[in-house]
Formats: sequence, structure tokens, C-alpha cells
Amino acid sequence: MINNLKKVIEGQPAFRYKQVNEALFKQLVSNWEEASNLPKELIANLNEKFPLEIKAELLHDGDVSKAVIELQDGVCIETVLMRYSHRNSLCLSVQAGCPLGCHFCATGQGGFKRNLTSWEIILQALYFGRLLKKKGERIDNVVFMGMGEPFLNIDNVFDAIKVLNDKDGFEIAARSISISTVGIVEGIKKLADFPLQVNLAVSLHAPDDNLRLQLMPINKKYPIAKIFKALELYIYKTNRKVMIEYIMINELNDHIKMAKELAALILAMEKPLVMVNLIPYNETDKYKASPIDRIEGFRNVLLKSGIDCIMRRSFGKNISGACGQLAGK
Ligand code: SAH
Ligand code: SF4
Repeated sequence: MINNLKKVIEGQPAFRYKQVNEALFKQLVSNWEEASNLPKELIANLNEKFPLEIKAELLHDGDVSKAVIELQDGVCIETVLMRYSHRNSLCLSVQAGCPLGCHFCATGQGGFKRNLTSWEIILQALYFGRLLKKKGERIDNVVFMGMGEPFLNIDNVFDAIKVLNDKDGFEIAARSISISTVGIVEGIKKLADFPLQVNLAVSLHAPDDNLRLQLMPINKKYPIAKIFKALELYIYKTNRKVMIEYIMINELNDHIKMAKELAALILAMEKPLVMVNLIPYNETDKYKASPIDRIEGFRNVLLKSGIDCIMRRSFGKNISGACGQLAGK
């Protein structure tokens, strides 16, 4: 349970924890009044400290829905639900904006407001959990690929993951939860020691530091060699496969030569337990997306080198709900 929520219930008999969790995550109530078995004062206290109404605007584009959620201080964040035939996947934000300013990313270009609390991260899942429950469905999968950098808000992200995974919470399998990072080395190390087996994805986007620095200012602090060292340690400790994310920007990072460099980087690892995910770029006014044949060419080089490589489809562009398009406008 979220720490602040625990504090509100402190001193209550033990079964209250169960009742509160049941109301919140199973019944998915949108007002504490609906949790009729709780005592009146507790309901009042909860309604004051953890109001359950969520102010949001919902937009749809095919199987993608985007919620623009207004937080208590008026700050807006965005959450995306992708409905595949066999599962519902939720893309969560961890910060309002992002301080890292990657040049290709709308979130990064929009500036940074603040970190989200663990409650505000959970709130996003509650919002879509309630909508899905009405259809007899649930959240099956969670990716931390919305606004912000998870490892710059790591304690709150870890707290939220515990609630997402908990059997008294959302009961989402750890293997169905993924964190995407620009490669904050301390975060990668902490995740290796985190008790839940969640997946790690690293946004690489370039095979050399010069190019990566052009795209991502954070590469100055965490250059490629440092990231790969941390990944080797992570793989050594966890024996879990890491996903390397690589957005495909036309005639910039999508040259065959670069695919070969990327393959060499990976094959030089002690244990190259990785797969590469080529992400079609969602265009901004700065960069253009690689055409499909360039993506295929790049992919073939990796496959021929024996590296597992997939191409992620991109959804929700019409509502600016795709990767790197969330801006909290
Ligand atoms: N801050 C984290 C997680 C959020 S971004 C990170 O950067 O990894 C999630 C993914 O979307 C990252 O791989 C990011 O590089 C990618 N992305 C950003 N802008 C994009 C764009 N315009 N098109 C496609 N992917 C983009
Ligand atoms: Fe932040 Fe990730 Fe966007 Fe970079 S890509 S600005 S780290 S959200």
C-alpha cells in the first residue's frame, strides 16, 4: 500500500487495510462513500486526503485512448491505453514534463514541471482500471513509457510498481511491467536489486556517443560505455533479457553502417542477453521518420548478426498519444 495512504489508516484494526484495498483496487470505487463498510470518520478523512474523483479528458483514436489528467495543483499529465486483441496495455507517466530535453521528444521539448507522487502514478491506473471494469476487462500490461524519466523518480516508481503487482492491488504480473530509461546507471543498478522481476528497456537511439549526444543531452553524463557496463552487471545479476530501444530517424541514425556498429556493441557484451526494438519515429518538426525499407535494412543487419530484433508498431498518432508525443497541453 502507498505510504501516505498507510498513514491515514494507521491505528485502525488490521482488517481495514484489506477493506480499503478491496474498495480501491477491486471494486475500483470512484468515491470513498461507495466503500460502505468503512466507518464514517475514516471515509471523511480518506475523501480529504485521497479524493478518488479523477479530473480527466478522454480522447480516442482507434484502439488507443489518451487521458489528460489534471492533478490537484492544476498540473496536467497524460496516460495512454492501448487495446490489443489479447491484452490491455497501459502507458504511464512518472513526471509532469521531463527535465532531460531529448531533442526528438515532444515531452522533453515541453519543459519540466515536477515529479509525480506514487499516488499520482497509481491514479492513472485507477482511471483506466475503472473504465475497463465497466467492460468486464482489466489492465494486463504496464509500460513506464509516458512522460518523464522513471529513474529520476525511482522511489515513487518502485512504490507504484509494488501496488501494481500486489495481489491486494492491481495484480499485474511483474513480467508484464516494463520500465524504459535513457540509461541512468544508478537506476539500472537499483533495478537489478529490486525484488520484483520487471522488465528493463533502454533508449539507446545511436551506436556512438557523438550522434547520441546530438539527440540526447544526457549522454554527456551517461555515455554508451557506462550504460553497457551497467547493463552487463544487470544481466549478470538478474539473467533477464534487456530491451534496447532505437527510434528510426531518417538518414540520421538509420544507416547500415550504424546497424553494424550497434551489432558490434551488443556482441562485445559479456553476455549479450538483449533484444533490439526498432521504433518508427513519430515525427516532430525537427526530424523525419525512416521509411519502412530503411528500417527493414537496419533490422536485417542485426538479425544476420544473430541479434533478436523486432519493430514496434506505433499507435495513436491522431491524438498525440504515441511515444514521445505526450506534452500535457
Ligand atoms: N524517459 C524514458 C521513458 C519515456 S519515453 C525514456 O526516454 O526511455 C519512451 C520511449 O519513447 C523512449 O524510448 C523514447 O526515446 C521514445 N520516444 C520519444 N520521442 C519519440 C518520438 N517522437 N517517436 C518515437 N519514439 C519516441
Ligand atoms: Fe524525457 Fe524520455 Fe522524452 Fe528523453 S525521450 S525527453 S528522457 S521522456
